[in-house]
Amino acid sequence: MRKLPDASVPRVTATGSFDCVNASLRETFTSLWMTWRRRRAKPTSLASLGMAIGNESRFARLSAMPNNPVLVVHGGAWAMPDDMVEAHINGVRNALAAGWRVLERGGTALDAVEESVVIMEDDETFDAGRGSFLNRDGKVQLDALIMDGGTLRAGGVGCVERVRNPVRAARKILSESPHVYFVAEGAERFAEEHGLELCRNEDLVIPREVERLREYQAKTPTSRAEGAREMGHPSGSAQDGNDLFAPAVHDAAISHDTVGAVALDREGNIAAATSTGGTLNKAPGRLGDSSLIGCGCYADNLSAAVSTTGWGEPIMKLVLAKWTADRIVAGNLPEWAAQEAMNYLKQRLKGHGGIIVLNAQGQVGIAHNTPRMAWALKTVQKEDAGIERGQ
Ligand code: ASP
Repeated sequence: MRKLPDASVPRVTATGSFDCVNASLRETFTSLWMTWRRRRAKPTSLASLGMAIGNESRFARLSAMPNNPVLVVHGGAWAMPDDMVEAHINGVRNALAAGWRVLERGGTALDAVEESVVIMEDDETFDAGRGSFLNRDGKVQLDALIMDGGTLRAGGVGCVERVRNPVRAARKILSESPHVYFVAEGAERFAEEHGLELCRNEDLVIPREVERLREYQAKTPTSRAEGAREMGHPSGSAQDGNDLFAPAVHDAAISHDTVGAVALDREGNIAAATSTGGTLNKAPGRLGDSSLIGCGCYADNLSAAVSTTGWGEPIMKLVLAKWTADRIVAGNLPEWAAQEAMNYLKQRLKGHGGIIVLNAQGQVGIAHNTPRMAWALKTVQKEDAGIERGQ
């Protein structure tokens, strides 16, 4: 059997971290801490008491203290060339403005992340919605997830081809279905039955992406059939733990323009959403990390709201969003946890990507192990956006 590279997970040595104590002590502490948090939590609305009528509040809601809102968005982590920086910064700023409008009038974190992500799905700069990468058959196939940290309700769609805004379909699932996840035609049917107009797949395809796929496939040996040979490993064996079914990890030209948002609302609830067209030339039916709970997206008031981007196969193997949220519940700050998640991704599976993290106290973490990641952040005091952070 081949040995994977060093599997050790980075250990925390920073002051204030609880990862360095032994497991049982940590468990005891965590449960004490959570009990304290629960007692401290003051429900501030009918919804937070779980008493309101309506589907979304049938579930017990656990909310923190009233808070000043916070919103963070990202638009993908990769070696973004200089001439694409402006479009990405504008895109994330527009998304921030849309989500902030919701939060400033007292709307929910869930609505805010949905609105932010819709803006980026509609912006052809990003690999989400119209303008997404094409799969091997030249089609757009979209994945999205949205999650509410107050109730742990979530909605996800995978491999949809006729939904212009997959995050809207995901939200319908969260709000109007007892289920959590729908794929392909079933997801499209659900979306249509719940009031979303379907489009043609061609409506999501743009010339830039047709050309990009043509160039990519022309460069790729015709022998790129399924499996190991597809990735240039004739032996079929994993090399250095790299995944055989994802684009070459060292190919800096491969962009990752997945979009995501995390928000904290006035009620103290957090939420997260992630939406993607996946990876260029992906096999039809391939699902990445973005729409899988705990992989590309996660939200729990007790830990954090998280959205990731990057090479999906390693991210999903590490269940990276939940891994990061667990670091927060263990007492670490989002900033540290975001950076550690990127270290873990790189050290454990040679993965690359980016992450945004927000806890219910409004503390933020933004990190990437790629050269650049488009991000934007807004609080009542400040607004900022950039393409480099926490490296
Ligand atoms: N994580 C996405 C996927 O693998 C791609 C990305 O983030 O750009 O589907």
